[in-house]
Amino acid sequence: MATAKRDYYEVLGLSRTATVDEVKKAFRQKARQFHPDVNKEPEAEAQFKEISEAYEVLIDEDKRSAYDRFGHAAVSGNGAGGQGFDPFQGFGSFSDIFETFFTAAASGGGATGTRPRRAQRGAHLAYRLTIEFEEAIFGAEKEIEVPRLAVCPKCEGSGAEPGTETTVCPNCSGRGEVRRTQQSIFGQFVSVVPCERCHGEGKIVATPCTECKGEGRVKETRKLAVKIPAGVDDGAQIRLTGEGEAGPRGAPAGDLYIELNVKASKLFKREGNDLLYELNVNMAQAALGAEIQVPTVDGATTPVKVAAGTQSGKIVRVKGAGVPFLRGTGRGDMLTKVSVQIPTSLTEEQKRLLRELGQTFGDNTPEVPEKGLFGKLKDALGG
Ligand SMILES: [Zn+2]
Ligand SMILES: [Zn+2]
Repeated sequence: MATAKRDYYEVLGLSRTATVDEVKKAFRQKARQFHPDVNKEPEAEAQFKEISEAYEVLIDEDKRSAYDRFGHAAVSGNGAGGQGFDPFQGFGSFSDIFETFFTAAASGGGATGTRPRRAQRGAHLAYRLTIEFEEAIFGAEKEIEVPRLAVCPKCEGSGAEPGTETTVCPNCSGRGEVRRTQQSIFGQFVSVVPCERCHGEGKIVATPCTECKGEGRVKETRKLAVKIPAGVDDGAQIRLTGEGEAGPRGAPAGDLYIELNVKASKLFKREGNDLLYELNVNMAQAALGAEIQVPTVDGATTPVKVAAGTQSGKIVRVKGAGVPFLRGTGRGDMLTKVSVQIPTSLTEEQKRLLRELGQTFGDNTPEVPEKGLFGKLKDALGG
């Protein structure tokens, strides 16, 4: 079900530097062309959804910058388990788009739709996947098992027992909506509401499928392969379009959001694309300088030079030994932080050598400033 998604800029025919006004203008033009209320071509609805989705991301500063950096994988809609963007839900008809949506831009979409809700899509699912520290850095392919509602194999989602047919809803003549005329003190007004008999689907299952009882979907546990891109961080989300729950009676499926939980490493701490490694050296190494083999996240070692006279806290950078950049090429660095260890237990021999060494450093007593006025006053008063 997961198909390759087109680039959002390409969908709206925009350059990557397009301004907010250009994004709005491009969407308005495309919406006029493809809104299913004016365009009766069968692909129009899918195209309209595609441009609406592109618009939703590019008009939002945060989502756009996330998309620019990480691509579709990182634009997580409204978050795991949340209600995904459905262009038909908040503002339904063609005129709603231009009246409600553009005048009250970013108001969150006042639901004034006169169009009945279309057949309800399947729910989005969230899955928390724990991976090793190294898998987040170098990428991995994981297999997960997701319990979900899937298209019923017996009726292929129609909800009708094979061999029988669905019938056109007699209540709404297959339109899925009914007009209701009401009287008010302002006169007569007509509202359009979803048909109660067929729940807006326009058709009725006369002989329900015995497998799914007419729902068109059944429970299953599905094995899925998930590709983890190299360089992801803890909390990153991967969206698998159409891998959520199947919709009832053939309605579109929801999406599956995989939230990554990255295990900590014993050796490294991650700071964006850099890795922090704490290198313990002894007093002699810090004072005289040393070259030390340090472990890298690749499972190898690399020599790190500690210069003579290095103080605790000094950072030695190992270029390119960090985390790969999610987009583009190259890697961050490994930051080796030197920590000078003061011995806590010494042999008699070490003590003797250190005492001897200490004497060569001379008297290190801090200078005491002359007594100030307060001190003199205290002396005069006798304590
Ligand atoms: Zn069935
Ligand atoms: Zn009906």
